[in-house]
Amino acid sequence: MRCPYCGIDRDKVIDSRSTEEGRAIRRRRSCLNCNKRFTTYEHIETPNKLVVIKKDGSRVPYDRQKILAGLEKACYKRPVSSEAILKVVEEVEEEIFRRFDREVDALEIGNTVANRLKHLDHVAYVRFASVYKQFRDLEDLLDEVRDVLETSQDNPPNQGRLF
Ligand SMILES: [Zn+2]
Repeated sequence: MRCPYCGIDRDKVIDSRSTEEGRAIRRRRSCLNCNKRFTTYEHIETPNKLVVIKKDGSRVPYDRQKILAGLEKACYKRPVSSEAILKVVEEVEEEIFRRFDREVDALEIGNTVANRLKHLDHVAYVRFASVYKQFRDLEDLLDEVRDVLETSQDNPPNQGRLF
C-alpha cells in the first residue's frame, strides 16, 4: 500500500482484524520509510454481479431484498425477530457468494434459505418451502412436514411448533 504521508509503497502490517459486522478486514500498517501508521480496509467485493436463473430460465440480477421479502412473508406473525431474519439473509448471502461466482439457480437460493429456516421456525419453513418448491400436491407437502417433524425430534427447536 502506498503510504498516505510519504507516498512510498513499502509497509508492514502490524495488526489485522475483522470489523464488527464481519464485512471488512481492517489493517494497521506501518510505513517502512517514514514510520507513520495508517489504516486500510479490505472489503468484500459488492456481490451484485451474480445472476439468478429463474425457474422459467430467465436471468435477473441477484437481489438480497427478494430473500428478505420472502423470509418476512414466511415469518409473518411467527416468533422470529427481525434480527434473526436479517441474520439468515446474511448467512445465506455469504454461503451463496462463496459457492457461486457468476450464476446461481433460484432453487439453490431457495434451498439455502429453507435449510436455515428449518432450524429457526417450522411453520415459517413450511410456508417458505411451499412457495419455492411448489409442491405438486398435498401429499408432497405432507411428506415435507413429516420430514421436518422427524428432524425436530433429533434437534428440538428453540421456538415454534407446527400446527
Ligand atoms: Zn511513509
